[in-house]
Amino acid sequence: MTLTETGTNRPTPTLVSPAMAVEANRARVLQALYDIGPLSRADLARLTGATRATIGAIVLPLIERGLLVEREPAPVAAGGGKPARPLYFSPTSWPIGAVHLRPGRIDTALVSAGGNVLATAHEQFPARTRDAGSVVDAVVRALEAVLPQERDDLVGVGIAVGGMVDTDAGTIVAINLAPGLAGLPLGPLVSERIGLPVFLDLHPRAQALGDRWFGQGRGVGSFASIYTGEAIGVGMVLDGAIHRGPKGSGGEIGHTTVHAGGQQCRCGRHGCWETIATHRWLRSEAGRLGLPAARTMTTGPLARLAAKGHPGAAELFEKYAYNLALGIANLQQILAPGLFILHGDAVFGGEAFRSAIERNVRAALPPHPGSEPRIAFSELQDRATLLGGAGLVLSHSLQLAV
Ligand SMILES: [Zn+2]
Repeated sequence: MTLTETGTNRPTPTLVSPAMAVEANRARVLQALYDIGPLSRADLARLTGATRATIGAIVLPLIERGLLVEREPAPVAAGGGKPARPLYFSPTSWPIGAVHLRPGRIDTALVSAGGNVLATAHEQFPARTRDAGSVVDAVVRALEAVLPQERDDLVGVGIAVGGMVDTDAGTIVAINLAPGLAGLPLGPLVSERIGLPVFLDLHPRAQALGDRWFGQGRGVGSFASIYTGEAIGVGMVLDGAIHRGPKGSGGEIGHTTVHAGGQQCRCGRHGCWETIATHRWLRSEAGRLGLPAARTMTTGPLARLAAKGHPGAAELFEKYAYNLALGIANLQQILAPGLFILHGDAVFGGEAFRSAIERNVRAALPPHPGSEPRIAFSELQDRATLLGGAGLVLSHSLQLAV
């Protein structure tokens, strides 16, 4: 057995060179700004345990390169000394390309390092197409529509895919509703066509990175980001790092069994969480209860029917909250992310739905003082995944912790 063979597949860490130490220190400063910025140089020195001179030497080149800008100084009381000028990311610089690919639709955006969406475009394709090459063409077209002609400053492109992926290879493994894309090496193909580094990941995991860099996950050590609606998926940041599993195989929480012998899922198995916590279940139950517009039912209209006292609506509203809470409580029992940020359709249920889910999650768990799980609805609206695509690039290119 050699020194590097430790009996596990965990690589032995190598020592850092002086140049790498400079990069690591720069990454820590940027991470502090992403977590709790804007911050003054004095704040950064205090938070990172460095001197003002060290912080100055790190931030000056970042200001010169246009990544950071000095904001207007915060007002200080009379006699309070020279006001500090807090630093934050430029709203326009360091653009990053982002792609969200789902069955039949491609959305792209150009996002600044500070999380501003500078341009958007979209393309459509037949979800059942067997011509994967035409989908790559459509991704490239939608990207070309948002990327600037001058690409010297472009950091890269992040692609979020609504299906199973191999994050090491940048390949789509399988998308239930777009079977023709199975095995497509989308990341390398797009990278070759546009001449930029491309990083590919699972949609809810990219969404979690959107929360982590630009949303309610900023500065939060552990949380889960859950997509709701026509499907259910989870991305998790645990103890400061995004959880991927080997080749990005983790996160298929929608297809964990919550009901032995339950309904058949579209993945072919039975009793998956998706079979009781997505639109398909909601619409079938709404039809059984005779609710109006049952075939297109979503959480927003259901909440309005429940508020008006429509017979059966309040019960279905509560049952849907319970079914969502069931999978969330399982996640809390196993990994305790503590904070659950919900995206997609559930958000339209409003505060009544949020509090119903939270109540059901708490009721399903043994009490653990000081660590009660919290349910939050995303404030990023539908931008979270595209922002997360950009976050994916930031994490890699700036060597930040996630
Ligand atoms: Zn399933």
